[in-house]
Amino acid sequence: GLYNIIYTYITAVWIPDNEEVWQSAEITKNYKAGDRFLQVQLEDGTEINYPVDPAALPPLRNPDILVGENDLTALSYLHEPAVLHNLKVRFVESKLIYTYSGIILVAINPYKQLPIYGDAIIHAYSGQNMGDMDPHIFAVAEEAYKQMARNNKNQSIIVSGESGAGKTVSARYTMRYFATVSKSTSNAHVEDKVLASNPITEAVGNAKTTRNDNSSRFGKYTEISFDQSYRIIGANMRTYLLEKSRVVFQSENERNYHIFYQLCASAMQPEFQHLKLGSAEEFNYTRMGGNTVIEGVDDRANMVETQKTFALLGNLLEISTTYSHLNIFCELLDLNFDKITQWLCHRKIITTSETVIKPMTKAQAVNARDALAKKIYSHLFDFIVERINQALQFTGKQHTFIGVLDIYGFETFDVNSFEQFCINYANEKLQLQFNLHVFKLEQEEYMKEDIPWTLIDFYDNQPVIDLIEAKMGILELLDEECLLPHGTDENWLQKLYNNFVNKNALFEKPRMSNTSFIIQHFADKVEYKCEGFLEKNRDTVYEVLMEILKESKFRLCANFFQDNPVSISPFSSTINIKSARPVLKPPNKQLRMTVGSKFRSSLSLLMETLNATTPHYVRCIKPNDEKQPFEFDSKRVAQQLRACGVLETIRISAQSYPSRWTYIEFFSRYSILMTQQELSLNDKKQICKIVLQRLIQDPNQYQFGRTKIFFRAGQVAYLEKLRSDKL
Ligand code: ADP
Ligand code: MG
Repeated sequence: GLYNIIYTYITAVWIPDNEEVWQSAEITKNYKAGDRFLQVQLEDGTEINYPVDPAALPPLRNPDILVGENDLTALSYLHEPAVLHNLKVRFVESKLIYTYSGIILVAINPYKQLPIYGDAIIHAYSGQNMGDMDPHIFAVAEEAYKQMARNNKNQSIIVSGESGAGKTVSARYTMRYFATVSKSTSNAHVEDKVLASNPITEAVGNAKTTRNDNSSRFGKYTEISFDQSYRIIGANMRTYLLEKSRVVFQSENERNYHIFYQLCASAMQPEFQHLKLGSAEEFNYTRMGGNTVIEGVDDRANMVETQKTFALLGNLLEISTTYSHLNIFCELLDLNFDKITQWLCHRKIITTSETVIKPMTKAQAVNARDALAKKIYSHLFDFIVERINQALQFTGKQHTFIGVLDIYGFETFDVNSFEQFCINYANEKLQLQFNLHVFKLEQEEYMKEDIPWTLIDFYDNQPVIDLIEAKMGILELLDEECLLPHGTDENWLQKLYNNFVNKNALFEKPRMSNTSFIIQHFADKVEYKCEGFLEKNRDTVYEVLMEILKESKFRLCANFFQDNPVSISPFSSTINIKSARPVLKPPNKQLRMTVGSKFRSSLSLLMETLNATTPHYVRCIKPNDEKQPFEFDSKRVAQQLRACGVLETIRISAQSYPSRWTYIEFFSRYSILMTQQELSLNDKKQICKIVLQRLIQDPNQYQFGRTKIFFRAGQVAYLEKLRSDKL
């Protein structure tokens, strides 16, 4: 009904386009309700009769005065083409990378150094109101800082986006902002120390991938602690799901973690000679990707930087300790060479009656070695994070904190495995947290304005989360399969099919495959291949090898393996069912847990933390895959807007009252629409009400609040049209 009425005065719509996703089309003949064609003129001048479904007409184009707005929710028509067009105009024509979408800051990676991050800019944003300044990452940081100080409440900044979109850079800028505006006089170096944690975690946790030369292979939540006068006193970080497989395997054109190349490039330096390293070309683990250097990156120089930051944080890493590499490995870790060689190549099989020792196949031995390497590296990574946290510990009392979350966004590849499953699960949790927050904010705003509570129908993704984490959900079935001595990926998948196909609308079996399953995530459908889920979830090392490492005379190494016997090993005959259940405890106490259940508990801990803070959201967008400055690939951007929940939020706004004007604003903009008689009244608020009731017949299209008028989508565009007709 209403849509048809609107079509009688709108002048342009958006229709699908193969290249640009959407193209603008001017309406050349009035649309009559029920018509199956819309007569339009395309951008190239051609006139066509565009077939339409009268029940689902094409999205309407916004009046030009709204295009280029720095807040997308100010658009009268809120839908994908409008959002895409607005972002494109700002980015390509005005070189503006930041735009608000309600409470979200959308940041498009410019792939070019911009002069907008200097200290002068930081000071310009400091103390200002968000609405008074151009959208900026500093404005979000300032908002968090201000709210912390004003409300005495902890804050968090949640940065998400796909790989290469600019999350880490954005997170770094927010931290620099806090370090700059809260410079303390007494403890002068603490800000520098907090900032120094970044290069170290990047050296050990970032690597070159095909998408990003400096891709973070872990999630990170950094809490920056402030004292009573809101000065930084220290920090603490939690990390999530380091990609361990990279330690032993890299795809073509990718590298292992930066630190390995930094060390190899420094092999001849006196302080590293005892490591008996050589060039990165010599090691299987570092040369597998085919290219050990990154263009424009000097690994030796970066090692100097890494060492400097280690020194700044107080020497947290001391490395204390031609043969074959195995010999050097044993020497450095102070291990028994004979035992290691024996148990890297043989396995002990314990049955009820006897113990037999059998040689492993080559594949098994390689697997056992790789599992060990991954384990050592991940322990080292955790150790470094722990030591950084110690170095950033503070003696005084923390008054408040601001947490910065730099976490991988929703992922969908041609082949998706356990890693994508976990990442997408994390994004579902964050989306739910976001939805609830928006919901709460809306509710508060309505209450403040005395507007009768209208139920907003937003997409509730709790059912997907339940499918994954509830009792007898995907993760629990996976854990159970891992406990079975002869559990396999295929058997587990069969159980998923039995439990969910035709019973859970969010789960599907692909028609042509018996080895995958499909989940309908909030952002998209994703097909996961079951191969490797069990092994990745168990993440076990051959126990005998762990025993040997536990006996190492090199304390650091021995400590890594203390009281950490993962008993659900495929090599072990003892199975501990109880311990595989999730428990909420600090990470280092989580023994005998699968990767999936550990991740589930660390996520619920993260959600608890985030829910107790005031959140601020930054969504990073990668504008093209070629890393080209200011190049806007509409298809890629549209895809990410869908995946990061921006469009979902827009939909929530569109369903409630996206446009809000104060009575004063309304009065001054639309006085031209008011009659002399109306204007002669004294009470401006009353005038606004009378005028609006006359102009918009359907009372459901607006609400009068205490200080503001709330409009449904499309109403401001309608008023604008009436206004321009008068001008
Ligand atoms: P992510 O953490 O999302 O994977 P990064 O933050 O590492 O992505 O960004 C990838 C690259 O993009 C950076 O190394 C940098 O070259 C570029 N980049 C990102 N954000 C900006 C920005 N605001 N200005 C200039 N270049 C940027
Ligand atoms: Mg990153």
